[in-house]
Amino acid sequence: MQRHDVVVVGAGLAGQRAALAALQAGRDVAIVSKLHPLRSHSGAAQGGINAAVGKEDSVETHIYDTVKGSDYLGDQDAIEFFCKEAGPTVVEMEHFGTIFSRADDGSLARRPFGGAGFPRTIYAADRTGLALLQALWEHLGQENLTLYEEWDLTRIVVDEGRAQGIVAFDRRRGDLAQIAAKAVVIATGPAGRIYGRTTNAHSCTGDGVAAAYRAGAFLKDMEFVQFHPTALLESSILITEGARGEGGILKNAKGERFMSRYAPHVLDLASRDVVSRAIFTEVREGRGFPGDYVHLELMHLGRERIESRLQEICDFSRNFAGIDPVTEPIPVMPAQHYMMGGISTNARGETNIPGLFAAGEAACVSIHGANRLGGNSLLETLVFGKQAGIAAAAYAEGAPTPVLRADDLDRETTAVRAMGDRTEGEEPQHLRIEMQRTMDTLVGIYRNAAELKQALAQIVALKVRYEKVRVVDRAKTYNINLTDALETGHMLALAEVIVAGAIARTESRGAHARTDFPKRDDANWMKHTLAAYSPQGPRLSYGPVAYTRWEPKERVY
Ligand SMILES: Cc1cc2nc3c(=O)[nH]c(=O)nc-3n(C[C@H](O)[C@H](O)[C@H](O)COP(=O)(O)OP(=O)(O)OC[C@H]3O[C@@H](n4cnc5c(N)ncnc54)[C@H](O)[C@@H]3O)c2cc1C
Repeated sequence: MQRHDVVVVGAGLAGQRAALAALQAGRDVAIVSKLHPLRSHSGAAQGGINAAVGKEDSVETHIYDTVKGSDYLGDQDAIEFFCKEAGPTVVEMEHFGTIFSRADDGSLARRPFGGAGFPRTIYAADRTGLALLQALWEHLGQENLTLYEEWDLTRIVVDEGRAQGIVAFDRRRGDLAQIAAKAVVIATGPAGRIYGRTTNAHSCTGDGVAAAYRAGAFLKDMEFVQFHPTALLESSILITEGARGEGGILKNAKGERFMSRYAPHVLDLASRDVVSRAIFTEVREGRGFPGDYVHLELMHLGRERIESRLQEICDFSRNFAGIDPVTEPIPVMPAQHYMMGGISTNARGETNIPGLFAAGEAACVSIHGANRLGGNSLLETLVFGKQAGIAAAAYAEGAPTPVLRADDLDRETTAVRAMGDRTEGEEPQHLRIEMQRTMDTLVGIYRNAAELKQALAQIVALKVRYEKVRVVDRAKTYNINLTDALETGHMLALAEVIVAGAIARTESRGAHARTDFPKRDDANWMKHTLAAYSPQGPRLSYGPVAYTRWEPKERVY
């Protein structure tokens, strides 16, 4: 059996930054990842990373914008720490070799992003995530890191009240194995594939969040799901907020710049929940184009600017929609984009289980509260990835030697083998598609009690059917049918938590918009939802929101 001081699960920006911090603290560190590190979803991030640098901007406004953007559900102490760390974090990434775009005077170029009082999103054209990921991966290459590549975490082992290691499925060998660890950091990223219409990669299935939930960790604020306003119509490929940051505008079928009705001051650059609801409303009220979409126009920006600042957007539009954004409007609709919720942690990445840490999109500190601002997530992976790595390393230094039992592995192996031995039962993809349809139609931008209850019944029924899921592919190595089944199980568990939290929260706040409770209700709901696993379904409780200086106000853009 393999043993390490710290095992980080996930090799995106959060996982890599955590591993680097733990290595620099002198621990023996391994990363377990189901993908090659550079294929992590972080590499798909286009628009940029926020930091208040330069004379005109201030950390104070970044803090205020983030608190307001969160619809006052973000923890203000954590947000203050986060925004203060932003400048040093971006400078560090530049020193690691990230080539950011430059302004004419040679300083870091910055573009406006939604919900931000100042243009503070630093970028590398529209490939910011990839630029960061490559620089960090090369930097990590100088350290003595062990990498388990194409291994899928299936279980976090918690025994005697603390994390002792993990069980993972080695895709190449086609077998499960245990890895003992004094500290485990979960950095498995997004879970967007719970929805059908999503900007997230196919690998974004929430595995680590589901594993932590089953192991006894609290999940926080899972009902808050962000829909990005502008995804390409058919494929749901993201058209970055940077496109509006560069001056792109939204128009309905009547040629109206409709955002003037919803956000008279900042128009197209209101925060994402506001713009997504506006587009949805335009289409619902009959002002969309036939086939239900609106236009994003860039033509007025000119070829030179579009092709230099938004290279990927040009490629995506041309290749996936047959549209040239230099001469034609881009057809867009909102799609699931980001999970504000995740494994509940504090600003050091600690969960309620000793030895278990989390960071990145899999975690919820919470700094995004009910709605994340664009550009704050790449920053979060680095700021809190580092903190989780530091805390895990410190914990591992004093922790007892972990003990893993052989019968634990046997039980897990039997459960996984059973999926392949069944002669009856449904294949995972059918369950996955039904779950996605349920979430798309009943747990979307606007929600109500009747639809949410219907969704819950459907998800619970799918969970029962999942008990008999059947893997027909017999391949020993690279059995995608099997990993698909494992991922579907993870997503069903999380879908249930999202819907349960959404039913309970009888108010509208940030991305959670209830047509039957259209107002924010600070008297009763200024609190975090906490979900704990039970075989009968999630048990919900609530925790306080941390305040420092910002009184809740109505959010106007
Ligand atoms: C298209 C797109 C564009 C975006 N643009 C921006 C932007 O411009 N600015 C911004 O701030 N944010 C942006 N975001 C959000 C941001 O990119 C993500 O929230 C962030 O990169 C997530 O990083 P992460 O390290 O938490 O996860 P990821 O980068 O997704 O990494 C997850 C890692 O976990 C591993 N993993 C998953 N499951 C398992 C398992 N079972 N076993 C082992 N390993 C596993 C994967 O292999 C992967 O290495 C964007 C998101 C998307 C989808």
